[in-house]
Amino acid sequence: MTIIFSPAQLGTLRLRNRLIMTPMHLGYSPKGEVNEQLIEFYRARARGGVGLIVVGGCGIDRIGNAFGMTQIDDDRYIPGLRKLVDAVQAEGAKIVSQLYQAGRYAHSGLTGQPSVAPSPIPSRLTGQTPEELTEKKITEVIASFANAAKRAQTAGFDGVEIIASAGYLISQFLSPVTNQRTDRYGGDLQARMTFGLEVVEAVHEAVGPDYLIIVRVAGNDFVPGSNTNTESQAFCQALEKIGVDALNVTGGWHETQVPQLTMNVPPGAYAYLAHGIKLAVSIPVIACNRINTPELAEGILEEGLADFIGMARPLLADPELPNKAMSGHSDSIRPCIGCNQGCLDYVFRLKPVSCLVNAEAGREAELGPISKAVLSQKILVIGAGAAGMEFARVATLRGHMVTIWEETEKPGGQLALAAAPPGRKDFLYFRNYLANACQELGVTLQYHVKATPDKIMSAVQNGEYNRVVIATGARPITPSIKIEEGVKVLQAWDVLSGSKKTGQNVIIIGGGAVGVETALLLSESGTIDNETLRFLMVQHAETDQELHRLLTQGSKKITVLEMAKGIGRDIGLSTRWSMLADLKRHKVNCLDNHTVLEIRSDGVLVERASDSAQKVIPSDTVVFAVGSCSQNELFIALQDKLENLSVIGDAAKPRKVLDAIHEAYSEGIK
Ligand code: SF4
Repeated sequence: MTIIFSPAQLGTLRLRNRLIMTPMHLGYSPKGEVNEQLIEFYRARARGGVGLIVVGGCGIDRIGNAFGMTQIDDDRYIPGLRKLVDAVQAEGAKIVSQLYQAGRYAHSGLTGQPSVAPSPIPSRLTGQTPEELTEKKITEVIASFANAAKRAQTAGFDGVEIIASAGYLISQFLSPVTNQRTDRYGGDLQARMTFGLEVVEAVHEAVGPDYLIIVRVAGNDFVPGSNTNTESQAFCQALEKIGVDALNVTGGWHETQVPQLTMNVPPGAYAYLAHGIKLAVSIPVIACNRINTPELAEGILEEGLADFIGMARPLLADPELPNKAMSGHSDSIRPCIGCNQGCLDYVFRLKPVSCLVNAEAGREAELGPISKAVLSQKILVIGAGAAGMEFARVATLRGHMVTIWEETEKPGGQLALAAAPPGRKDFLYFRNYLANACQELGVTLQYHVKATPDKIMSAVQNGEYNRVVIATGARPITPSIKIEEGVKVLQAWDVLSGSKKTGQNVIIIGGGAVGVETALLLSESGTIDNETLRFLMVQHAETDQELHRLLTQGSKKITVLEMAKGIGRDIGLSTRWSMLADLKRHKVNCLDNHTVLEIRSDGVLVERASDSAQKVIPSDTVVFAVGSCSQNELFIALQDKLENLSVIGDAAKPRKVLDAIHEAYSEGIK
């Protein structure tokens, strides 16, 4: 990887490489202050070898900020910010502060005052209507940007980034959808650019001509009626003219209906947006969004699509990503899988950011490096699922000798099921990472070993092990519903694993995550594949409409039945909307508030909650997706016989992968 890890010039800054940690909302600063949690988080990323870290957003005022955000709206924050800058710079990375004003995306429940925007158009994100900014107020906001930039410079930051993307205040001014002003800030594109350009000019004046200014722009808002790459090009050209040093090109707004950051977004999918901007300007362009491996990053640079690469979540997942790649150990990088379970979903729940694959993320100050145990133990783990392997990895780093007994022929447990639906294969990368890490560390992984209480007891009594950890996972529940003889009834897990096939007319009982994922997997059956799509498109063989139909209308008729209100309620907010949209696109029939009374040979008898109306929905296959229960028989059998016995993961309690991984980590460092 010769390009990405070569030194490069960004404005007046010499970076040690072309990898930039783009800003991400962390929620670590409850009072807006810099604290040890934030410093150690970023120190670890700087130590990991990244060239530049963009911290933020940093709130330039109180009207436009968000929960737990680092503030830069008052001089009292400068000493803390300086500590953060010193920590990052001491590790050889450069550091920039992102100046943030959310406009109509700010929530009055958090800021204590109504949000502001160019026009009083209700926000799809908050459900609130902002106040229209007066010209006087606009001048004040511009001054806040400039004052914040000056504070960043005083604190020692190497530059600032101004956020003009994602649907925040500057992009609201740029868009005809949210800017309906008739004064000099509204009207045609030139007029709508005025606010953004005035912000940059004011910042420039505050910090002087040699101070680095990056602007983060949307390569396409992906909002109907809003700006595309063409308008963004014009804005970027205007920014270049007034002395902006670099452009950080991201994708659409937070309210877009086109997924930007979920697992189903193909890695590097939005690099073309950066390329569009690069064709229009001569200053450096940064590409970002789902660029999750150094190899992909190198490819984007090699093809000339951008000059620098921005990554955020991959560095949350593994701060050592640059160092590992530079030393030829890319295969040991802990991959960001785009699940959003610990990052975006936590932000939506107003929780400090964490990470599914990295239990240390955000806890660097509290945990420190894993230390060797005083006494090395010989540990037996039963089950090579996610929790079992994560425990084994961490316990081995503590200096223990770990053996895993796995009943099947491969590791990963439910991770393989989670990876089965379309656009979810990244779960397999995490499974592969865990398996590789265990192997590299010398964990003994034995397959086809059926653990029994007697076998475990005898191994412990023989002195082979002095601690046992049960990580046997869960099993699917079979509901007690009357079933007529001869009906094809399957478990969703068998469908997801590919071990059982359904007919053409399928009813899935259970509308939680597993039911939705199973429906999405089955809905792909009979649709055209990517190669066929590409061929037909290049040949102009079919209309766009027909191609869309061929991609989304498969051969199976699928119904999802859910007893409670709502489908997919246990799916994280950042991902649920996109999965529900896919169900709709694939014409999956989703019926919530319906109770299954009986499974008959001709279909499923259901009762609607609202009026108790009953009907039979025809089907040739019924699939159960009604949840899982702990597979904990070994633990129950041994708990009174073994002293050093514990149970982790789904074997303790079925839950999300993130919780199982974090529990396994905690047990491993004990
Ligand atoms: Fe990536 Fe998921 Fe971790 Fe977020 S929680 S950084 S998406 S692996």
